[in-house]
Amino acid sequence: MTKTAVKNNQNKIVLMKTGKNTIDFGDFITEIMLRYGNIIAEEAGRPMKQMVCSICSYVYDEAKGIPDAGIAAGTKWEDLPSDWKCPWCGAGKDAFNEKQDLSAKEMLEKPHVDKELSAIEMSIICSNLAEGCEKQYLNEQSKLFSDLADFFKSKADPVNKGSTAELLKLVNKDIEVYYPYANTVAGRKPDRGALRALTWSEKVTRMLQSLLIRYEKEGEKMLDDTGVYVCSVCGFVYLGADAPAICPVCKVPSWKFEKIEGRNR
Ligand SMILES: [Zn+2]
Ligand SMILES: [Zn+2]
Repeated sequence: MTKTAVKNNQNKIVLMKTGKNTIDFGDFITEIMLRYGNIIAEEAGRPMKQMVCSICSYVYDEAKGIPDAGIAAGTKWEDLPSDWKCPWCGAGKDAFNEKQDLSAKEMLEKPHVDKELSAIEMSIICSNLAEGCEKQYLNEQSKLFSDLADFFKSKADPVNKGSTAELLKLVNKDIEVYYPYANTVAGRKPDRGALRALTWSEKVTRMLQSLLIRYEKEGEKMLDDTGVYVCSVCGFVYLGADAPAICPVCKVPSWKFEKIEGRNR
């Protein structure tokens, strides 16, 4: 291809003709830049941020975008569609937080817990311990914990005032108060086993929080045309046509997911 000299007057692009007057495209752009240049420059000048999925730690980097998914490099977080979903775990945009310097975190005070464990809480703890023993092939211990779980369950009061809102309140308190505290304590020791267990369960809890928030908004409709899968290892709940190839939280393969069948209404 040969380069041809551009003769300005021949290459004017006429944007609009009103009577005798023509509005030249170049003049139009100049006018826009003069009027809105500051705003455009300010917007463009905001440092690119990174948004981290609180559930699976996926990072959306504005500078990189996701070209494979048709999201150009430089696409701002605010400009992603509101129904955009985390490519790893399917969580909504509200599950994302801006990446921050963790060293800025302040010390936490011990949360005040003034209650005895209820029978149903004892039952849940025992049933978790039973599963833990089973995974370590401690079958006898597993059976004993399972019996204990059944015993406490038989003593539990029936739940009669259950609601999504109540559940969400408990979940929020776990995320806002108890997890930060537990993480701080485990981090001081440091207890790597506890930290790992906390990381997993916090992610699972955040996923439950995002599902509960969605459920409050959409109701049963959110379960239409979708499968519900639960990771049998970490408890991560996934909504989608098929189970994810690997669990975004604990990284086990898809066959470790159990499909939960819907209730007949
Ligand atoms: Zn995610
Ligand atoms: Zn998992």
